[in-house]
Amino acid sequence: MPAQILDGLKIRDQVFAELKSEIARLSAQGVRPGLAAVLVGENPASQLYVKSKIAACEELGMASWIHTPPGDVSTEYMLQLVSDLNSDNNVDGILVQLPLPGQIDSKRILEAVDPAKDVDGFHPVNLGRLVSNRPGLVACTPAGCMEMLRRYKIPIEGANAVVLGRSDIVGKPMALLLMHANATVTICHSKTRDLPEVVRRADVVVAAMGKAGYVQADWLRPGAAVIDVGTNKVTDASEADKLLKNFPQRLEKFHAKGSVLIGDVHPDALFTAGALSPVPGGVGPMTITMLMSNTVKAARLRRGKSSVVAGQ
Ligand code: NAP
Repeated sequence: MPAQILDGLKIRDQVFAELKSEIARLSAQGVRPGLAAVLVGENPASQLYVKSKIAACEELGMASWIHTPPGDVSTEYMLQLVSDLNSDNNVDGILVQLPLPGQIDSKRILEAVDPAKDVDGFHPVNLGRLVSNRPGLVACTPAGCMEMLRRYKIPIEGANAVVLGRSDIVGKPMALLLMHANATVTICHSKTRDLPEVVRRADVVVAAMGKAGYVQADWLRPGAAVIDVGTNKVTDASEADKLLKNFPQRLEKFHAKGSVLIGDVHPDALFTAGALSPVPGGVGPMTITMLMSNTVKAARLRRGKSSVVAGQ
């Protein structure tokens, strides 16, 4: 039997419905949550990401602003912009779209964001709160993976969870969230020995490596829950033929379009996993969903309001 599909779009719709009622409640109290996005230069992928984040704000009735400095701005310019947004009381969340051009000191910029407005959850203060399991703003992608596991009622307490990848924005916070939810967590990276054996012990696998179809179907314990964070654009026809040989419709689409989005988990995992988040349509929509949720949460916390949404 194929795996249960962990549908990120479906959960996004549920969470959006909950956020809409929370936003209506806040607006009755004179609060309109607002997100300021900073998009430096003309990177097409970044432009697309920011556009979809702003569209989500509009769909939810939140305020949004986009700042688009040219690609050659200095670190000092960016620090001033962040400082202005920090002191603007209408702005609840600040999103600095990454990657920033090379001449900008990205770490300094991210650390200049007021932790109370750090809706990406990248500030060391928020990371510290996550380490010590105190309330704060959590990075959107791992928070989205947890929300997905929680809403699909995947058992986590006592489970063996394996996180593939140890980046600051996905792997590390993911491992901490799973640990706080009482999983026994193993973190793997490029120097891990015998990865297939480690993955075979997992009840829950979270793959965030950036390697198309790397995790093979036969590495998975039958019935394991698999969250695939990877988003890899495959353009090579022989690679697509190998990855999608059991998915003729997707292969046909690849040949028509010349590219396909593949996760870090081989698509054949559908036949061994018990539950699987698809790529696309799994973690991707959850990341934007949690950004919206974090912005509403930031608005509430900054203004001393309580929540009506579970888990907020
Ligand atoms: P990253 O910073 O490049 O980190 C990749 C991690 O994978 C590193 O820790 C690396 O190990 C590990 N790794 C690489 N090759 C490995 C191997 N052969 N075996 C075991 N571990 C290996 O990437 P990231 O920012 O965390 O993103 C990971 C993936 O998630 C990317 O595909 C990215 O596009 C995707 N992503 C998706 C979303 C979404 O919304 N869907 C959001 C964020 C990221 P080392 O530390 O040893 O180098």
